[in-house]
Amino acid sequence: MKIDRVRSLHVSAEWDYHEPLGEAHLSRPESIYPELAADPSWPVKDVASGSPYAVDAHFLIIDTDEGATGICGPVGDEDIAIINRTFVDILIGEDPHAIERIWDKMYRHSIHGRKGAPMIAQSKVDLALWDLKGKLLNAPVHQLLGGPSRARIRAYASMLGYSVEPIKVVERTRHFLAQGFTAFKWFLPCAPKDGEPGIRKNLAVIRAAREAAGPDVDLMFDAWSSWNVPYTLRMIELSREYRPYWFEEPVLADLIPQYAELRREARGVLITGGEHEYTRWGIKALLDARAVDVLQADVTWAGGISEMSKICALASAYDIPVIPHHGGWPSTHLIASQSLTACPLQEWLIQHGRLPNVFYKHKLVPVDGHIEVPNAPGLNMDLAEEGVTLLEERTLTG
Ligand SMILES: [Mg+2]
Repeated sequence: MKIDRVRSLHVSAEWDYHEPLGEAHLSRPESIYPELAADPSWPVKDVASGSPYAVDAHFLIIDTDEGATGICGPVGDEDIAIINRTFVDILIGEDPHAIERIWDKMYRHSIHGRKGAPMIAQSKVDLALWDLKGKLLNAPVHQLLGGPSRARIRAYASMLGYSVEPIKVVERTRHFLAQGFTAFKWFLPCAPKDGEPGIRKNLAVIRAAREAAGPDVDLMFDAWSSWNVPYTLRMIELSREYRPYWFEEPVLADLIPQYAELRREARGVLITGGEHEYTRWGIKALLDARAVDVLQADVTWAGGISEMSKICALASAYDIPVIPHHGGWPSTHLIASQSLTACPLQEWLIQHGRLPNVFYKHKLVPVDGHIEVPNAPGLNMDLAEEGVTLLEERTLTG
């Protein structure tokens, strides 16, 4: 059996979503420049149009000469461009089961692509290949990797996009607490450029979340790479009475010694990061530096299921858990293939996480704060038979 074609599908659908979108303003590294401070943290292009929102997406398809097909999506149009330019010639003619060989060929061929967009595109190819293998062997991918390690995965509610007005934080925390979530992550609005008033605003979010959640819920806070060491230490000390579980990406991803310094000084508050790091080699540098308490590499960016399995093994040797940056269904399969200590938790983006469901046959819907481990063959990213319109199908020819 050989791979004989690689295609992209451009599809559209309507998203019937009646909760508020685009309420939040989170601090990001580029927010220091007023002209770059506009916040793109909502999942639809035209939030003013109202529900149902018109949404579109690209899916990657890998075909074989015996008729089986692997699918991965939504993927970016940039992913499709890179796959077309760099990887199609490598894929055609290969045995689709030989994922390790194909990954290595792509990695060696794309030597400037070790990090960032090319590795993100390579991850999408890897996921489509694992989906294909699951379908060829009639098994869910977590099973092919040694899972399932549990029947359902505890999920944490990731509140990207929701207002951080304290009164709204209280309201939404209570709402999702009642749906069974036992852990929440809020995205803090302010950074060093916002001075003392900003510190008070951040603290008000943390206080509101704790007051609404009660004493037994894990509360995490994401600084989106926009702080520095003194600011983070100050936020940790001022918020200590509200028992934050972790502060995420306090500084830019390249500041590895600064992560390590924060981790040494944080005294009981965890420092997490790694979503903007790639492959086993990038992650090993974080582990060797003792930079993070929790690794958050992304299965759709860091090299796919193949590479994330290696990253999990590597991290377990350092006794560092991997709680992947969201990643949807591929994250569920990866986590379900790992031990409970290696991958204890899945991120569930309440707003962005629901959007891909409009395209999917298998909807990812947490129940009682948990994601059920799926049994369908492959990675569960098949297109729904109804409600999805094909706008364009393209054979990638390199
Ligand atoms: Mg994050």
